[in-house]
Amino acid sequence: MSLALLQQDDDKIIDGKAIAQRVLEEVKVDVITLQQQGIEPCLAVVLVGDDPASHVYVRNKVEKARFVGIRSLEFRFDEQLSEEDLLQKIDELNADPDVHGILVQLPLPKQINETKVLERINPKKDVDGFHSENVGGLSQGRDVLTPCTPTGCIRLLKEALGDELTGLHAVVIGRSNIVGKPMAALLLKESCTVTVVHSKTKNIQQICQQADIVVAAVGRPKMVTASYLQADAVVIDVGINRIVEDGKARLVGDVDFDDALPMVSAITPVPGGVGPMTIAYLMKNTLQAARLQHPDL
Ligand code: NDP
Repeated sequence: MSLALLQQDDDKIIDGKAIAQRVLEEVKVDVITLQQQGIEPCLAVVLVGDDPASHVYVRNKVEKARFVGIRSLEFRFDEQLSEEDLLQKIDELNADPDVHGILVQLPLPKQINETKVLERINPKKDVDGFHSENVGGLSQGRDVLTPCTPTGCIRLLKEALGDELTGLHAVVIGRSNIVGKPMAALLLKESCTVTVVHSKTKNIQQICQQADIVVAAVGRPKMVTASYLQADAVVIDVGINRIVEDGKARLVGDVDFDDALPMVSAITPVPGGVGPMTIAYLMKNTLQAARLQHPDL
């Protein structure tokens, strides 16, 4: 009989909020250690324009930085900022030895080339892990700064399965540069057997049925149902989708949580799963960035 059928449903839920809190407590301790070595970890956040969601994200990031004792600097610019002026700001932050991490909140206004801006950030300060040098480093399995969301997902998997992910078959649904691709690279680094599926893949359902781990990063509400899963699979739901159900707006993932729960051995909820881990790993990355800039430590 499948283990999942014997488990209590509550025990299967991976509590991302609680795990993220533990990550933040770990960061707090590491911040103190760095301060004792004379380094004041500092994150610079750059926000261009009036996108309300971006303002909320930036506020949350700054609050969490304060909570763990990381100094944060905020640079807000209006929608009309030129690409040249933004690049100049990045150059200044790159040159400032007191700034360890640089985060440019996306999306940027259309007159600014996102790739050009992200490529301008010193890879050692690239706390989002989007610079091509870090992307390349990850694909070679080197210890570089890696994107926060998939890195947080690996921690969730280790909390659910133990440190050893070796040999497990992981299916990643989605191949974006921000989530799907780095997720696949990180799973490979953990010696998983990795399959990536996307909008052009045939038989996604059958492929997922062979997975020990399913990571859904699609952006399609409740796409993954129990019929996609083998008994005892571990499911990480990255999706954040706003839907209206019974006249009420709510957030749901890419996985149909209620349908999948009886089938799985562990699953992240939405909200309260991957979301809080993303910001916690931004803080971890800022510390890693500070250490990268002080290899003498
Ligand atoms: P993207 O839109 O960039 O990528 C979506 C991926 O899903 C693409 O690779 C696309 O394939 C694939 N896809 C789309 N439709 C299907 C389908 N029917 N079957 C299989 N694959 C499909 O999204 P992101 O990766 O940026 O984000 C994915 C989700 O994760 C979103 O809901 C987003 O809000 C959420 N998210 C959550 C974060 C968090 O902190 N929790 C952080 C970042 C994202 P193709 O490449 O062929 O088009």
